[in-house]
Amino acid sequence: MTPAAERPHPVDMTDRRGDHLWRPYTQMKHAAAPLEAVATSGSRITLGDGRELIDGIASWWTAVHGYNHPHIRDAVADQLGRMPHVMFGGLTHAPAERLAARLAALLPGALNHVFFTDSGSVAVEVALKMAVQLWLNRGITGRTRVLAFRGGYHGDTMGAMSACDPDEGMHRRFGAYLPSQVFCELPRTAALEADLDAALVAHRHELAAVIVEPLVQGAGGMLMHPPEVLATIEKLSRRHGLPLIADEIFTGFGRTGSLFACEQAGVTPDILCLSKALTGGTLALAATIATTEIFSQFWSDDPAHALMHGPTFMANPLACAAANASLDLFEVEPRLVQAGAIGRSLTAGLAPVRSKQGIADVRVLGAIGVVQFEKAPDLAALKQRFIARGVWVRPFGDIVYLTPALTISEGDLEELIAAVCEVAAAAA
Ligand SMILES: *Cc1c(COP(=O)(O)O)cnc(C)c1O
Repeated sequence: MTPAAERPHPVDMTDRRGDHLWRPYTQMKHAAAPLEAVATSGSRITLGDGRELIDGIASWWTAVHGYNHPHIRDAVADQLGRMPHVMFGGLTHAPAERLAARLAALLPGALNHVFFTDSGSVAVEVALKMAVQLWLNRGITGRTRVLAFRGGYHGDTMGAMSACDPDEGMHRRFGAYLPSQVFCELPRTAALEADLDAALVAHRHELAAVIVEPLVQGAGGMLMHPPEVLATIEKLSRRHGLPLIADEIFTGFGRTGSLFACEQAGVTPDILCLSKALTGGTLALAATIATTEIFSQFWSDDPAHALMHGPTFMANPLACAAANASLDLFEVEPRLVQAGAIGRSLTAGLAPVRSKQGIADVRVLGAIGVVQFEKAPDLAALKQRFIARGVWVRPFGDIVYLTPALTISEGDLEELIAAVCEVAAAAA
């Protein structure tokens, strides 16, 4: 590695105005300087100063097989030698054909038609576009809003952002620029189910779809709901003739203990979004998958009925090769068993925190463990403590959570749990 002094643009970390990088969700003036990562392996991140951190969150929930899995690395290297990229308009290739067929086979019901994009937010945009356009294709106008749930998160682009929780999301900051959606509480009780039903009736002439994150609202605070709540949402969507969009970008690929969260409720959405762990955390790829019934409404002699979307890097062959290799690993290695074992360790390990002062809740689902504080702690201080403790954990809002690689060793998981217990007790 080039010593810092010899780099062409030395970065003054005390005054970030000299920094060329604009960082995610960051007030550049006050944020602590980011740590430099130079290598990853398994569940470890190596820093520029030689320290090694145990990763508790698998790089924003993507690296389900741990970092640098040799099978994915080899598949990508092989594809790199043949064809790193080719446009997807008018051309096709084996990695995409194979991946689409495999996803269709893995997903429930008739979710058979796969549209590839390059990020989760864009996968959601495409789902919203499908929902809005399918009404137009039926000759029905005015159906341009979606019903979304409080606590939800669906991405940072405009359409996706408009479906995020209206208070926690960025609605106020972007005001009138955002499309206006209809929001409800998740139907956790009979009264809330009646509210949802009433909202669906009240807005029936303007709704295009219902969108939900099945079982766990991730970025909204790792808020979990039982499968029955999801089943109720499906039932009401059907009753009112609205397509159900399942955003499984966080929950997909074993995170909740099943390959897809919808399976636990026996729910088959009409449109499903995947990204995050799709390539095992190696390359940017997302997919919006529609049922044959949805797809049929775009199948027409009218060119205007075609789905009007097409990203430049659509179905990038390297990313598809990585995703195929990731699916191989789900076939040959016991990822769901590992997720179950992680869940048991998290349940046992985090239990003592529950009774500590200042702790509002401790919850576990699949390979997700969450400690919620009664009031938001000093996040910057908490992050520093974790790093000093040798772990990479990123608390946000009023929670600290663990979503490790499904392949994490027992020892590393114990370290992470111990760190969370220690820091949570000190912070509460
Ligand atoms: C992360 C996430 C997204 C957005 O994905 P990006 O790749 O960051 O655009 C959308 N929905 C859910 C549920 C997510 O967790």
